[in-house]
Amino acid sequence: MKNVSLIVIAVILASCSGESGQPTVSAASPSKAQVYRWKMITTWPKNLPGLGTAPERLAQKLKIMSAGRLDIKVYGAGELVGALEVFDAVSQGTAQMGHGAAYYWRGKIPAAAFFATVPFGMNAQEMNGWLHYGGGLELWRELYAPFNLVPFAAGNSGVQMAGWFNKEINSVADLEGLKMRIPGLGGEVLARAGGTPVVLPGGEIFTALQTGVIDATEWVGPYNDLAFSLHTAAKYYYYPGWHEPGPTLEAMVNKEAWDSLPDDLQMMIEVATKAINEDMLSEFTARNNAALVTLVEEHGVQLRRLPDDVLAKLKDISQEVVAEAALENELAGRIHDSYTTFQQDVSKYHAYSEQAYLNAR
Ligand code: CA
Repeated sequence: MKNVSLIVIAVILASCSGESGQPTVSAASPSKAQVYRWKMITTWPKNLPGLGTAPERLAQKLKIMSAGRLDIKVYGAGELVGALEVFDAVSQGTAQMGHGAAYYWRGKIPAAAFFATVPFGMNAQEMNGWLHYGGGLELWRELYAPFNLVPFAAGNSGVQMAGWFNKEINSVADLEGLKMRIPGLGGEVLARAGGTPVVLPGGEIFTALQTGVIDATEWVGPYNDLAFSLHTAAKYYYYPGWHEPGPTLEAMVNKEAWDSLPDDLQMMIEVATKAINEDMLSEFTARNNAALVTLVEEHGVQLRRLPDDVLAKLKDISQEVVAEAALENELAGRIHDSYTTFQQDVSKYHAYSEQAYLNAR
């Protein structure tokens, strides 16, 4: 308690300016009183557990931290623009801010996938290391700069599940002709394994699976998949999520909107997105296990591990696909090299730390 009191006193003293004792806040520039009313559009259904609550929490935190000066209204997918139109809409300034996942924009900029997730790539802990201390975020900002966007890591689901299937996958041959909702580079891998990848926003998955438009889908993990009732549309639930080992979600800010903010509000966005990035992983870590128990014990879901030969085949193809992503242009090459070098280096150490410990526990 004594330490806390000393800190409080120190903060009070720090907020006063020298001899006059006048609080420095009263000397704020006029811009400090300005209220920025922004829109944040998202690729998620409004308030979807985990993914959809992250942008809501981000907006709430920013409003409180800024004492109301940064007032952001959050829109679910389809409320202002469609889920897959978020990138263009924030780029053009239709909204000042967006929340989504970088691999959704792979059709426009293939290297964007590295900033969400790569098949057999880095997990959440490793992604955060690369982005924040391995040069990843700087490359991401370079990649988005021509589109008038400033990106931030703003969520991570951890290792996902391989997905929901209406038939068993017992061999590589069972992937042939499989029509599956799977975004990002994982979709390209499935295509080369003989399947047909489909990209659908979250809100359209359930109906597509239930009506047989698709044979299988991946979504996130037990917590989100239970919320979508995917267990009522498919019988088999496969793991591990080879295609999404630790997908980073993104917040992006329109460059002019970003430049219009004073330094303190910019810093609040930097800090609040980092808080949300950590918060989502914590929430999924806490809720996924309980949701999996519910799926298996209450709903009779058949939990299955993908066979080793299927995983080995998908891994081989993934290495090809990831290597090809480097060839698009010079920047894609640098992103690929930075990502893969970091992954190789951190994997060596994790063999002695995280991985060794999990194996020993
Ligand atoms: Ca997914």
